[in-house]
Amino acid sequence: MNITLIGLGNMGLPMAANLMKAGHVVTGFDLNADLVAKHVANGGLGATSIQDAIRNAEAIVTMLPAGRHVDAVYLGGGGILDGLNTRPILIDSSTIDVATAQNVAAVASAKGLDVLDAPVSGGTGGAIAGTLTFMCGGSDAAFAAATPILQAMGRNIIHAGPAGAGQAAKICNNMMLAVAMLGVSEAFVMADKLGLDRQKLFDITSTSTGQSWALTTYCPAPGPVPTAPSNRDYTGGFAAALMLKDLNLAQDAAESVGAATPLGAHAARLYQALNDAGEGGRDFSVAFRWLASMARDEVN
Ligand code: NAD
Repeated sequence: MNITLIGLGNMGLPMAANLMKAGHVVTGFDLNADLVAKHVANGGLGATSIQDAIRNAEAIVTMLPAGRHVDAVYLGGGGILDGLNTRPILIDSSTIDVATAQNVAAVASAKGLDVLDAPVSGGTGGAIAGTLTFMCGGSDAAFAAATPILQAMGRNIIHAGPAGAGQAAKICNNMMLAVAMLGVSEAFVMADKLGLDRQKLFDITSTSTGQSWALTTYCPAPGPVPTAPSNRDYTGGFAAALMLKDLNLAQDAAESVGAATPLGAHAARLYQALNDAGEGGRDFSVAFRWLASMARDEVN
């Protein structure tokens, strides 16, 4: 298939590489010409504008930072929907607000086109390995058409519901994850201060009811899980700044429907403070080290 990928950043570039590995011809476009050059060096075709990129596209995948970028790339002048007279499969894998995802889908639908929101979980490691989870929102037909393409980039492809449902699933997942990570972090901070050995706490809680992914795969206290970012100065992994973005998206969504999310709201405030302290570029499990540096009154 001729596939266009717009947004060749940390995620988009390796996703394009996996599409090519599966035999597709991938035309890439990014505002950053260096990234287009990298895509070409990987064996892809380069484009100089959105219109140039989508000319022969049978499918278009976007992997952009936030809702305003998706809005501009789809609905702006010279954007995807501007004068499109073919019917490519349209997939947006960016993590964005539910309202923008629904609006883009509605505008496309008025032109007889289906857009699938298909945000991912699995991070850059999953993008490189082709093991991402895709959570999809859109019609049955859009999901069926997109599935073979998504299978080249991911392992679990799940239809969450109508347009926007993929984004809703993504922010629910990340709100859970942030709350769990903060919970695990503060327990290890308290354990250190109580003189409890970290490894003992890990051995006990990882086989007890406190068990979670944040604990067993990503333990925020250095030591118990050697492969976790906590053992490499919280580099690599999922940036705290992106977690803050997702927590703010979750709060906007919760407010729009009147959902009570007190822990999600507090998690957003804590990740905001952590970002303000200059830790936004580190993996989000840096919450442990940041909490360990705080006095009880400062954050409780
Ligand atoms: P990134 O910033 O590395 O890449 C985004 C790219 O989009 C950039 O290269 C930028 O130049 C490009 N771009 C912006 N506006 C554009 C436009 N108008 N036209 C063309 N290109 C444009 O971000 P990323 O880490 O690849 O993340 C992409 C999305 O995936 C985000 O929504 C993020 O929340 C989500 N996500 C990221 C991860 C992760 O671990 N990095 C994990 C899951 C989900």
